[in-house]
Amino acid sequence: MNALPARDYPALEPVDSRETRPQPPVDLIIDQAGKTFETARGPMVALAPISLKVAKGSFVALIGPSGCGKSTLLRMAAGLEQPDNGAVLIRGKHPEQFRREGELGIAFQDAALLPWRSVFRNIAFPLQILGRSVKAHTDKIHELIELVGLKGHEDSLPGQLSGGMRQRVAIARSLVSDPSVLLLDEPFGALDQILRRTMNVELQRIWAARQTTTILVTHGIDEAVFLADEVVVMQAKPGRIAEIIKIPFARPRTPELFSHPHFHALCDRLMASLHGEGHTE
Ligand code: ADP
Ligand code: MG
Repeated sequence: MNALPARDYPALEPVDSRETRPQPPVDLIIDQAGKTFETARGPMVALAPISLKVAKGSFVALIGPSGCGKSTLLRMAAGLEQPDNGAVLIRGKHPEQFRREGELGIAFQDAALLPWRSVFRNIAFPLQILGRSVKAHTDKIHELIELVGLKGHEDSLPGQLSGGMRQRVAIARSLVSDPSVLLLDEPFGALDQILRRTMNVELQRIWAARQTTTILVTHGIDEAVFLADEVVVMQAKPGRIAEIIKIPFARPRTPELFSHPHFHALCDRLMASLHGEGHTE
């Protein structure tokens, strides 16, 4: 049987052929790590002990209902939250150490910019923390500002920017130290749909160019399918991993993928998993 014309048929790699390839080394290991918070109403299990391995250079998306522990999982991976039990290791190191070495890029939900610093100086901030020269990285900071579409706003203060612009500053800041692992918690939440698509394509480009191991928390199923090699579907009460779904589309992925029937089929599949309908194959 003849294949459909290429323009109607973005290349798909069968999942099986990927699985027979040599496996890349693992960058992040979460091993039976759980987290319970003490609250006024008693202990709250944010995450039941979970295990996850993220391969070097891969892109993993985390989706799940609000409160299922996505941010807690990411904060544990960043060493900002300690698991009650189990272990989290990045390239064999504790995440905190990895972060201190500038190998971890983080952009979380609330952009958390320093309000008295300009866009340029916010993006430069991690370099100063790491004791690196800002002067030597001036070109790079300007490149990042251009990358996130903020050229002309170098001297603006966060209070003068929209929510979406602040998020883009946070994304640029997360990349300034050339991290080998990038953790992003709903970084595109406040962006309009068009800018979001642009940022999706840009993020794929950055990820591919730098082979940055990336974990992205997102509410957007389409964003997860477009960007990820694997989508981790989580469920709440207690927070846990329900299923991990491989996304077999060839790369680089282009915006046309968003309207392909195979893409929609995978989005439906993820939606079913989110609603607890589990594996349907
Ligand atoms: P998600 O990012 O998936 O929306 P979170 O990881 O933010 O979920 O939170 C998971 C659960 O843990 C939620 O019920 C939240 O209220 C609770 N939680 C998170 N952080 C804390 C904290 N510091 N103290 C008490 N409860 C918390
Ligand atoms: Mg969250």
